[in-house]
Amino acid sequence: MLTEVSEALGLVTAVDVIAEESLPPFANTAMDGFAVRSSDLSETPTQLLIVETIAAGHNPSKVVGEGEASRIMTGAPVPDGADAIVMVEKTTVEGDIVTVDTTVDPGNHIRPAGDDVAAGETVFVEGTPLTAGHLGVLSSLGISQIETYPRLRVGVMSTGDELVEGNATLAPGQIRDSNRRTLLSLLSSDGFEPVDLGLLPDDETLIEEALVQGSRDCDAVITSGGVSMGDYDYVKEVLKRVGDMQWMQIAIKPAKPLAFGTIGDTPIFGLPGNPVSSMVSYELFGRSGLRSMMGFPQPVRPMIQGIAATPLPRRPDGKIHFARVDVKYEGSELVAYSISGQGSHMLAAMARSNALAVLPDGDGCQVGDAVNLLLLH
Ligand code: AMP
Ligand code: MG
Repeated sequence: MLTEVSEALGLVTAVDVIAEESLPPFANTAMDGFAVRSSDLSETPTQLLIVETIAAGHNPSKVVGEGEASRIMTGAPVPDGADAIVMVEKTTVEGDIVTVDTTVDPGNHIRPAGDDVAAGETVFVEGTPLTAGHLGVLSSLGISQIETYPRLRVGVMSTGDELVEGNATLAPGQIRDSNRRTLLSLLSSDGFEPVDLGLLPDDETLIEEALVQGSRDCDAVITSGGVSMGDYDYVKEVLKRVGDMQWMQIAIKPAKPLAFGTIGDTPIFGLPGNPVSSMVSYELFGRSGLRSMMGFPQPVRPMIQGIAATPLPRRPDGKIHFARVDVKYEGSELVAYSISGQGSHMLAAMARSNALAVLPDGDGCQVGDAVNLLLLH
């Protein structure tokens, strides 16, 4: 897809990007100073005649001859005849004579044309995630449009009879919908285009209509709720019927149930309803899956190692646990503090954490143990 560079932040290149221009486009000076012939400066000090002043953005009009120099400003083209720059700090000027207190090698402080990027060179290969620096390079090369993988439009719906939108009064048994806001926000911060598909009751027909419509309108759909073992868990029933679905119980905690399937070509991620589970499930499966669809060569968050600053206890149960932790540097050490409130409904605790500690099956970590961490932001 041809994308304006101004819209391309966070997208991934779909083809190799070939430079049609060189960067820098011409040899220029890295310093304010004087353009000289290095062979003139065999002894110090040397006096040279100043023949002109060249500002950035202006073309030299004089050739620098023997015994001559041109005053030059950073970024200005190096004049013919000169082969080196003397920084202004090494000179003194009186009238049109400059006294140079140093010798220089040819090429001194000159940035040759094509030093950074040569015309014809592949500047970025296919599969490059575009960051601010990449977009700056494209602008430097005069490239205003680029072939990228499209930004995914990802629909999000919440399901559950107990859920209420906004600040409406809560009837007995009702709670407010939080997952949709969380998931839409995670999608935006990960560079996808979030699409709000609304709040659905536990009604098989309505869920089916919304999923089928969502699968037509979006590149992927994320649902929350209705994928566990309960009587009214209709998301997985509908996906079983209208999609090509795999329903899974994953040996992790939180976020054990997951329904993944496709309706037509559209992937559907059926995440569990518990707010922490739905976030963790998004982190582990949704985000990585969606990033691969958008062309990211490394869709999975890197895992880094830190040190447990508090015990991170758990019981053996055959599962990998993802404990919510607060991670910070103390000196040169990355340390992880347990967050109080590890229940899968405890969204406030999740919000106060900035990483998941990956605890393999066993008894968890003692203070000082090495622990693998997925930094969330
Ligand atoms: P479920 O996966 O549908 O069985 O839901 C598991 C738990 O998550 C229940 O306590 C639900 O009330 C809660 N839950 C489901 N969806 C949401 C949501 N969108 N926002 C907040 N809590 C939810
Ligand atoms: Mg439910």
